[in-house]
Amino acid sequence: MRALCWHGVNDLRVGRVADPEILNPHDVILRVTMSATCGSDLHFIDGFLPTMREGDVIGHEFMGEVVETGPEVRKVKKGDRVVVPSCIACGGCWYCEHDLFSLCDNTNPRWELQEPLLGYPTAGIFGYTHAFGGYAGSHAEYVRVPFADNGCFKVPEGLRDDQVIFISDAVPTGYMGADFCNIQPGDVVAVWGCGGVGLMAQKSAFLLGAERVIAIDRFPERLRLAREQIGAETLNYEEVDVVEALREMTGGRGPDACIDAVGMEAHGTTLDYTVDRVKQALHVVTDRGPALRQAILACRKGGTLSVLGVYGVMDTFPMGALMNKGLTVRTAQQHGHHYVPRLLELAAEGKLDSSFLLTHRLSLDEAPHGYDLFKHKEDGCVRAVFVP
Ligand SMILES: [Zn+2]
Ligand SMILES: [Zn+2]
Repeated sequence: MRALCWHGVNDLRVGRVADPEILNPHDVILRVTMSATCGSDLHFIDGFLPTMREGDVIGHEFMGEVVETGPEVRKVKKGDRVVVPSCIACGGCWYCEHDLFSLCDNTNPRWELQEPLLGYPTAGIFGYTHAFGGYAGSHAEYVRVPFADNGCFKVPEGLRDDQVIFISDAVPTGYMGADFCNIQPGDVVAVWGCGGVGLMAQKSAFLLGAERVIAIDRFPERLRLAREQIGAETLNYEEVDVVEALREMTGGRGPDACIDAVGMEAHGTTLDYTVDRVKQALHVVTDRGPALRQAILACRKGGTLSVLGVYGVMDTFPMGALMNKGLTVRTAQQHGHHYVPRLLELAAEGKLDSSFLLTHRLSLDEAPHGYDLFKHKEDGCVRAVFVP
């Protein structure tokens, strides 16, 4: 089959790879109907997340049609149209039973690559480095889905692919980030980042009862989406001092919750950004953290910091601000399996439309070009989607 493979830093190519096969009785094989770019892919494409190997198939936000099932698969059958969360979860371990699906104990066969850094390994993720299990990704004609009874969610009748595809990753990640904020009536929620995850965190904050949502980015067209599609107020961090502006907008108190939907390759205009850039280039750290530090400083005392952006190693972290201000920190890779059924319902009821994130629909052969558009935010690209 054809697939998009990683061949080195900033070197993606479409090539031929072996078709996936059922390896475990709980697997299914999916014919991919849509597979999307995600901002977290950029971290290993740019070479900041290690343990990629030449020829790895990438992609982790996808949906498709079941074409083959393992002998132990019970809930899905051939012909089902399904969406699959990006994290792989067994459904039966202690973590899965506690709805902490991205922390599943049974889906990362390469635990030895994570333990030194994290203490315990987390769940595997499709197409997302060998430290996350080395699973083949979804930018391909077919993909193997392990633990399919737990990971495949049937799509309700009447929803188009473009209304469903982002319920694999961007929507549940954003929704979880807002859910982490324990939003109360009257709350103000600030969200750093207006990519797919950030926009969905903003939308979810409103759905969960926020009174005001303030979106922060530097691209005018993304800020416009936040205003027009979500109803958020917006700040361009290249034009204003964000911490100062947020203080003013909240009567001197600061937002009740701050969500970081940016992660380790943040851009900034402050001195810490310049220092991070140098250290990152020298491989002293993997992360640039101006968005996260800003969120910690801007948050009201006793507020919640919700971190959705992906991080590796950062050395200048304002622990003093976090501790003295009494912030609650919530973070995780998405526990998609917990949220997807509700999100499919909201989509079917017309209350949560994520289809506007799809700005570029391309063939799989055009995928390297799609990543170029996506990475450089050219032509207003929010998410490029490949149709194999
Ligand atoms: Zn993602
Ligand atoms: Zn599990």
